[in-house]
Amino acid sequence: MSLTIDLHSHSNISDGVLTPAELIEHAAMHKVHVLALTDHDDTSGLEIAAIEAKSWGVQLINGVEISVTWKKRTLHIVGLNINPEYTPLKTGLEAIRTGRHVRAVGMAAGLDKVGIKGSLDGAYRYAQEGGIISRTHFARFLVNSGLAKDNKSVFKNFLVKGKPGYFEHEWASLADAVNWIVGSGGQAVIAHPGRYDLGRTNMLLLLEEFRALGGSAIEVVTGSHTVDQYVEFAKYAHLFGLKASQGSDYHGKGISYMEMGRLPALPSNCIPIWQDWPEIRALEAMLIEDSR
Ligand code: AMP
Ligand code: MN
Ligand code: MN
Ligand code: MN
Repeated sequence: MSLTIDLHSHSNISDGVLTPAELIEHAAMHKVHVLALTDHDDTSGLEIAAIEAKSWGVQLINGVEISVTWKKRTLHIVGLNINPEYTPLKTGLEAIRTGRHVRAVGMAAGLDKVGIKGSLDGAYRYAQEGGIISRTHFARFLVNSGLAKDNKSVFKNFLVKGKPGYFEHEWASLADAVNWIVGSGGQAVIAHPGRYDLGRTNMLLLLEEFRALGGSAIEVVTGSHTVDQYVEFAKYAHLFGLKASQGSDYHGKGISYMEMGRLPALPSNCIPIWQDWPEIRALEAMLIEDSR
C-alpha cells in the first residue's frame, strides 16, 4: 500500500462546492492521506481545514493557486507548504482579490450590453462572504438562470476572449507569485501546464524562467492532463531538473475533471515534489510499519 497524495483542490472559499471542512471530510472518505487545499488567490480556508484535518487524520498541506499573467496569457502557479501569514504573500493575494472584483464589474458590464442584466449580484450570490469572485460564479448564475445550457457552453460562448462576458485582466507577475510562495517558505509549482496551449518554444521559455526564479516543480499528473500529457510533462520536468507534482484539481461533484484519490502514480522518471517533506516521510514510515 502507498500513500494517496492529492496536492491540488478547491473549497467554496474560491470556486469549489464544498466548504473547507466538508472538503477534508470528503478527502478522508476517499482515503486521501495527504491533501493540499489550494484555493484560487485566497488562503482563508486553511485555518478551518487544519482543525478538521486533525480530527479526520488527514495530513493537510497549506496551499494556494495564484493567478498570473505571463506573456499576455493566464497561468496558474500553485504554492505548497506556504505560510499564509507571510506579509508579501498576504498583501499580494489581497491585491489580486481586489482586482477580481474590478474584473467582475467589467464582466457584468459586458454581459449587460448583450441584455444580460444583474449578473454581478447574480454571480456574487454564489460566492462566499470573504471568498473570491470568479468566472465560475458567473457561470453558475448564467446556467441557473437558464441563460446558458451548462458550464461548458458558458466557457465557450460567454466568458472567454471575444465573447460578451470576457474582460481583459492583468494578474500577478510570474516573479511576484514565485517570490511570495518561496519567500513564505513554500514550493512553487506550475499548475496543469498542458492547459495553456503554449507551444514548445514558449513552454521551454516558461520553464527556464520559472526555474531561474526559484520554482520547484510542475504538475505532471493532474485531472486536466491526458495520459499522453503525463508522459510529455514528465519529460519536461526531467529536462529542466524540476520535480513533479500531482493533484486532482477537485472542485466538487460534477464540476471536476477528476474525483479525489483516483490519480495514477507519477511516471517513474519523476522526482516527486514531496520527496523530502518530513511529514510525508513520517507517514510513509508508519504505513510500512502497519503493513508488517
Ligand atoms: P477565473 O480564475 O475567475 O478566471 O476562473 C477560472 C476557473 O474557471 C478555473 O479555475 C476553473 O475552475 C473554471 N474554468 C475555466 N475554464 C473552464 C472550462 N472550460 N470549463 C469549466 N470550468 C472552467
Ligand atoms: Mn477553479
Ligand atoms: Mn487552475
Ligand atoms: Mn485549481
